[in-house]
Amino acid sequence: MLGLDALFHFEFVLIFLLAARVHIKHHFLAPLFFAVLAMFLDIDHFFGLSTRGSLHNVFVTIVFPLILVGLAFSFEKKGVFWKQFSIILLAVLFSHTLLDLSTNPAVKFLWPVSDAGFTLAWTGYAPVLASGYVLNLVSPLSISLLIAITAMIPIIFLEETVDFMWKKQETPKQAAKETFEEIRQKLREP
Ligand SMILES: [Zn+2]
Repeated sequence: MLGLDALFHFEFVLIFLLAARVHIKHHFLAPLFFAVLAMFLDIDHFFGLSTRGSLHNVFVTIVFPLILVGLAFSFEKKGVFWKQFSIILLAVLFSHTLLDLSTNPAVKFLWPVSDAGFTLAWTGYAPVLASGYVLNLVSPLSISLLIAITAMIPIIFLEETVDFMWKKQETPKQAAKETFEEIRQKLREP
């Protein structure tokens, strides 16, 4: 299967962030901003950059946003803007690569250290019925979509995630307990 198109990444992030009410919790244009950013990673298909390498590697999609998360939690004493921003950024960038894992060309996750390509080495599950009909039950794309959605879950519980990460530095067990209670409350909200 040929690679996911850039527009798909835009739509995935836009729909998810609107569903997670990021436009209400953060800034009304935030879903649009992150959706464009998710699409932006695919410019490494052009300009002589390494396709699915230059911007799809672990350093751009995980290490860089993690550094921002670390900086936000170290320096933003009051307020949550940068804490929330960096967590969304991490989830959005990382989920882009997770989505790309189901399609070709392979993701060069360790670029520029290594040119090795990573793909979901699985063809899916599509049993052939007695009638000869092929029942397409699970495809690699739907699996990578599921993994990407899982990586985006902290965005649904953005305040709770920030609260947890802030508190766990002192009392990890208590923080986990309180966060669980906050999430339970939130899920029951009308
Ligand atoms: Zn991509």
